[in-house]
Parts: sequence; structure tokens; C-alpha cells
Amino acid sequence: MIPQSAAQVEPLNLIKHSREPDDWRAQLRDAYRSPQQLLSALGFSTIQQASMIAEDQGFTTLVPIAFAQKMRPQDPTDPLLLQVLPQHQEGLAHADFNQDPLQEANYNPQPGIVHKYKGRALLIAAGHCAINCRYCFRRHYPYGEQKRARSQWQQSLNYIAQHHDIEELILSGGDPLALTDSQLFEIIGAIEAIPHIKRLRIHSRLPIVLPHRITTKLCQRLQQSRLACVLVVHANHANELGEDVAQACEKLRNHQVQLLNQSVLLAQVNDNLASLKLLSERLFTIGIMPYYLHLPDQVAGTTHFFVSLEKGQSLMALMQACMSGYLVPKLVREEPGKQSKTQYLPR
Ligand SMILES: *Cc1c(COP(=O)(O)O)cnc(C)c1O
Ligand code: SF4
Repeated sequence: MIPQSAAQVEPLNLIKHSREPDDWRAQLRDAYRSPQQLLSALGFSTIQQASMIAEDQGFTTLVPIAFAQKMRPQDPTDPLLLQVLPQHQEGLAHADFNQDPLQEANYNPQPGIVHKYKGRALLIAAGHCAINCRYCFRRHYPYGEQKRARSQWQQSLNYIAQHHDIEELILSGGDPLALTDSQLFEIIGAIEAIPHIKRLRIHSRLPIVLPHRITTKLCQRLQQSRLACVLVVHANHANELGEDVAQACEKLRNHQVQLLNQSVLLAQVNDNLASLKLLSERLFTIGIMPYYLHLPDQVAGTTHFFVSLEKGQSLMALMQACMSGYLVPKLVREEPGKQSKTQYLPR
């Protein structure tokens, strides 16, 4: 008989990965949907789990296996685990952390669109993601109210068609690549039909957390578009960027999709020079240029991820002092009422 603790040290379940590479929908269905499932797969004993598991505050656990496989077994400080595991600190109330810190509700000309900056508008294309990141500023977002009926799509598209200053359409969410191909292609087709739109930008974490989403069919659709296509991925740590992610990126680049990355500066996850440097280097190696490093938004339930502006700026100075300029992302924060994100220089 194998003692239980030894049995639980088994490495992550690989069986679920023997599928067709583009069967990403099945992989999404198989994702871990509870801390218990995830922690068991990582080899934590039931006793260890008991002290680690916290109330999820209504934001459920969701972690694709491809992402969990990049975590170190039995390491409660793993930087990938910390991004997705509900922790006790989420229950801490703090006067400076609220539910809509960006006041996006004010820039919502109608459900499904955020038109805040000149030249580009953001379309909330999906109400869900393939992973639930605990620090997410949209964790309290009323997606239900934004849920798109077909008729509402038409209204969003009419809004874009009427605003000729919009040259770039950003598909965001939620995560637009969590939509099925048919839903996504329908939206892209409708956007292509609006003459003043020149560029399509997709903000997605799927290429990182579920790289099999990057199918040949998707890449070909993007390449065929009359719109120049930019995909802004979201990775916070070099460990997220495995060989499967590298392959997805290569495929995208072979289909003329430009790749950028945005990260969030997160306490315990990446708030040190070594992590940030390695992240930029690894991104570059797999063909992604570092774009933004976001200071964390002060969202209720995320106090334990907070990094101050001062610390962010001093990390930037350290990066700038030892890295090629093009590997250093811009440190930014969203501030209500500004014409763009606010950039903070190293100091
Ligand atoms: C970040 C953001 C954009 C895009 O801004 P860029 O600086 O062009 O990347 C557009 N709209 C909203 C609401 C945003 O938050
Ligand atoms: S993928 Fe992006 S939008 Fe979705 S939970 Fe994570 S940070 Fe939030």
C-alpha cells in the first residue's frame, strides 16, 4: 500500500493532455475548478490544504491544467499558484480598495463598450476567461449585465460605426479568445465591415494559459483579415512561458500577428528585479515584446498583491540600469479622467 502522502506527491495529471492539440474546449472543461482539485494535483496533503484554502469571495477558482503544470509541486510560494489561489487576505476590507477603481462605469456609453481614449475603443467581447486571476480588476465587473444578446452586438457595432475617430478596435473582456471560433469570427467580420477601423487588437491571456487555443484556423482567420492584427498577451512570470506557449507564439507570428505583453506588478509574484528581467528576456526569446507593466489597481479583495508606486518606480530604475531599452516595459496605471494611461518613469 502506498501511504497517502506519497501518493499525493505524484506529479500533475498528464493523461488529460493526450488529446488532439486543438481540442482546447475540452481542456477548458477539464480545468481545475476548486482549490482542492488544484492543490491535490500539486501534491499538497489534505492537512496542508486545510490551512491554505480560503473563501473565494464569490470569484470562483478556475485554472487550466496547462497553466497548473508549470507550477512547482508542493510549493505554497509558487508565483503561478499565488496568482490563482484564493487566499485569506481576500476577505480583508480596506477603505482604499473598492469594486470599480477605474470608474469604467463612467466610460460605458452603452453596454459592452468602453470608449475612454481617443482613437481606440474597447469592446467587451466575452464575459468570461479561461483562468480566474485573483488580482483581476474586473473580478467585480457586472458581466451579467453586459451579457451580449445578438441585438446588443448590433448596437455596439453601430456605436463604433458612428464614431469615426475610432481607428483601432480592442477586443477585451473577460477574454475574447474564450469565445468559440464562430462567435469570434462573426465579431471580427462585423468589425472589418466598418471602413474607418484600421487595426484589430485582441487582449487575451489564452495564449499563455491555454496555448492550444491558438489553432491554425484562428491564425489563418487573423492573417486573412484586412485589419492589421495585434495580440496583447498577459504573462506575469517567466515560468508561465513554457514550450507550448512558445509554439503558439511562433504560429501567430508566422501568420503576421504582432505580439505584445502586458503584466501586472504583483507582490510575491514578480515584484523583484530578477523576476522582471527574466520575464522580459523569456518574452523576447519567444517573440513577444514587453509593452506594459501595470501597477496593481486597488480592487477590493486584492490588498495582498499591492505594490506601491514608489517601489514600482525603483524597480523600473533597476531594470533600466541593466537591461536593453526595448526589454523594459512601460510602468503604467489607469487613472480616472485621463486621456491615456499614466506612465511613471524610473526613479
Ligand atoms: C488600456 C486601455 C486602452 C488601450 O490603451 P493603449 O495605451 O493604447 O494600450 C483602451 N481603452 C481602455 C479603456 C483601456 O483601459
Ligand atoms: S485573464 Fe485577465 S480579465 Fe481574466 S481574470 Fe485574468 S486578469 Fe482578469
